[in-house]
Amino acid sequence: MSLRHTTRVTLATAAVALVPAIALAQAATVPAQNATVKAAMSQIERDNAWTLNQQVTLCEIPAPPFKETARGVYFRDQLTALGLTQVRVDGEGNVIGELRGNRSGPTVVLSGHLDTVFPEGTDVKVTREGTRLIGPGIGDDCRGLAVTLAVTRSLLANKVPITGRLLIVGTVGEEGPGNLRGVRALFTGPLRDSIDYFVSVDGTGIAITNGAVGSARYRFTVQGPGGHSYGAFGLVNPIHAVGRAIAAIGDMQVPTEPRTTFSVGLITGGTSVNTISADASFDLDMRSESMATLLEVDAKVQQLVRDAVAAEQARWPNSRGKLELKIDTIGIRPAGTTPDSSRIVRVAQAAADALKLYAPLNASSTDANFPISLGIPAITVDGGGVGRASHSLDESYDDRTDGFKGPQWILLLVSGLLGVK
Ligand SMILES: [Zn+2]
Repeated sequence: MSLRHTTRVTLATAAVALVPAIALAQAATVPAQNATVKAAMSQIERDNAWTLNQQVTLCEIPAPPFKETARGVYFRDQLTALGLTQVRVDGEGNVIGELRGNRSGPTVVLSGHLDTVFPEGTDVKVTREGTRLIGPGIGDDCRGLAVTLAVTRSLLANKVPITGRLLIVGTVGEEGPGNLRGVRALFTGPLRDSIDYFVSVDGTGIAITNGAVGSARYRFTVQGPGGHSYGAFGLVNPIHAVGRAIAAIGDMQVPTEPRTTFSVGLITGGTSVNTISADASFDLDMRSESMATLLEVDAKVQQLVRDAVAAEQARWPNSRGKLELKIDTIGIRPAGTTPDSSRIVRVAQAAADALKLYAPLNASSTDANFPISLGIPAITVDGGGVGRASHSLDESYDDRTDGFKGPQWILLLVSGLLGVK
């Protein structure tokens, strides 16, 4: 007995000694058994209709890129009505509200994005078919916004004794054209040095995005003198130059690991069939899970396009005009990873385990990209339910029988990150 006892103590001591102090301080537990947290989770289930009504109301307020103000005003008013303090709109248009705990602790951001990909004039009316909601933006990201409201409401109503500070944020500019302008402003503005954890709720399902897929998007424009197709034959042709460039890009080889992609998504140019156009352009989107690979592919593409323009110029040595290449950056998003072993990821997994949910890890391009690139613990989580056809006019969200598990999971995750005393 004595020997066994001694052995056990020795092993335990050795094990503790081997665990770095930081890991001990950063236990990835969630307060699933806390009475107020349990009550808050029950309320989320009970008040599921409230969450869905918020989702529909938010979605029926148009929020095109750079025109998120109306939806932001509604979101701001909800934060005020829920009882958050210091509710405000920052210089970029992000809506921010605070929920302060009774004791000091970490600052956690819980956010959804206000903007959609849909232009002004899009019919954003939501239709309901049983548990299905159909409308542009209903999942991406009206679900995320509604979930942040549901979590906040339930934390407050059940007086969950969080420590630290929870910042609820509706960000602007998450989608392509916005180029993460909202989250960039958040992490370069007054809150810059005070955010310990960033959780974005974006879209549907149950998954944890801790890999930030980087992207680089450009518009390449080729310009020349332009002229009659017959009378001015022999002129350099911007459309032909663009054709050469796209053909070369189309033949590029990129690695599958780290996953790296490219696509020309838009081409423009020309005035008529019998005109040598004065200009032509194309938009290119490149992505990679690795910043190094993205930079390599980016450099390669720039060279291919320059070579294509030079080849078109060389093809017409007697042309009386020259080609010019203009490169406009549409957007650059950094790549990176919040490690699987980081506390934020482990707390998200522990919260999923406590609710018997399967939450796989994956990589995507979201608001979390920016804090990840700064080395701040950040993830994007799904808001539950089942989504279809995001970024399309037929976008739908199905709450089925257990959509409420999304906000329950996120409430538990946030409670775990903040701590409950
Ligand atoms: Zn989204």
